[in-house]
Amino acid sequence: MLSRWNDKQAEAFGAEAEARGEPAALGLRVYTSRLIGQDPDLVLHGGGNTSVKIPAAEGTVIHVKGSGWDLGDIEAPGLPAMRLAPLLETRDVPRMSDEDMVAFLRSHLLDPSAPNPSVEALLHAYMPHAFVDHTHATAILVLADQADMEPVVQEIFGGRVGWVPYVMPGYDLSHACKDALARDPSVDGLWLAQHGLFTFAETARESYELMIEFVTMAEAYLAARGITVPAPEDTDRTAPEALVRDLADALAARDALGDEPALDFRSTPAIRAYLGRDDLPELARRGTVTPDHVIRLKPFGMLLQAGATREEIDAALDGFAAEYRAYFERNAPHAAEEKVMLDPLPRVILVPGAGIFGVGANMKAARIAGDLFEQTCRVVNAAEAYRRFTPISERDLFDMEYWSLEQAKLKKQ
Ligand SMILES: [Zn+2]
Repeated sequence: MLSRWNDKQAEAFGAEAEARGEPAALGLRVYTSRLIGQDPDLVLHGGGNTSVKIPAAEGTVIHVKGSGWDLGDIEAPGLPAMRLAPLLETRDVPRMSDEDMVAFLRSHLLDPSAPNPSVEALLHAYMPHAFVDHTHATAILVLADQADMEPVVQEIFGGRVGWVPYVMPGYDLSHACKDALARDPSVDGLWLAQHGLFTFAETARESYELMIEFVTMAEAYLAARGITVPAPEDTDRTAPEALVRDLADALAARDALGDEPALDFRSTPAIRAYLGRDDLPELARRGTVTPDHVIRLKPFGMLLQAGATREEIDAALDGFAAEYRAYFERNAPHAAEEKVMLDPLPRVILVPGAGIFGVGANMKAARIAGDLFEQTCRVVNAAEAYRRFTPISERDLFDMEYWSLEQAKLKKQ
């Protein structure tokens, strides 16, 4: 992976920020956030987050990516500001519910109308470096979704990247990362098992280029073992016509996705290789490549034959719904509070020999599901070539999909 840093562009972002009366560092933060957000092999669709700490007369201020913004086209208002000092006081507070954390962060916003800072805001605050970057890079996920990788991470990065076992995003992960950095404050980044990578440095360029360097090291490690992770490939979008019509009708009849559920069909060499695997039924139920993906994709997809009739489509949807309900009933009793079951319709439909459908209540949601699953195919193919694709457990997937913060959003709607 190559650095896309450009001195002229960086200067322009800094100068534009200053012309608006903002610090140049905030302009540079916008610039490298966009560099990250515009590369689908670093982050996809609102994934990842970035921050910058800026000294001010009244004390240091931290800007962290706000929810609802995409790094690819972020602007300064998408990086809400908070005073750093009160955030750092939570380092000694062992527990905080995610709702309390969101309220706490909101109470320290300099602009009370700003968007909610990322749920990783405290993690960003705890890293002492001025710039902090977080991605779910494709090559990193190939290696992150494996068992027992601590020695491999040590080998690949020669001790420059600290190890953090899987912890659910939010307060606990922030503390786990703080503890990992305390064990070795000399590291330039943190490896989050089954999740992604953080890098940090004193300048925007350095933190961004560490990210590129570490992703490149992961790519080289895989390449040395004969594994290449292809970039996103050209997509054949010609879906089997009868299948599209019957599938759209069958989904619309179930109501849960509104009147006109959208389908995004695609087929690439990586998708076809994934669909052609003998262990597809088991592999497709193993889990998502990052904890975030489960919110868009659900924990598993639905398999369907290319020549399925309308009756067979309905049977497959019934089967998926039963499987999804069983997953809910297996896991909900372990949750701290009562959960409301989400709709039992698939977000990705796998059609061996043809391609995949992203499914959503509108075309945008269907496309996002399609993009995320296209990346999933590339990650899983390479992860299986390396050793064994090993994402987070079903219980952890459930905790993410039914996260209290996500459920709260639903209850509001
Ligand atoms: Zn993440």
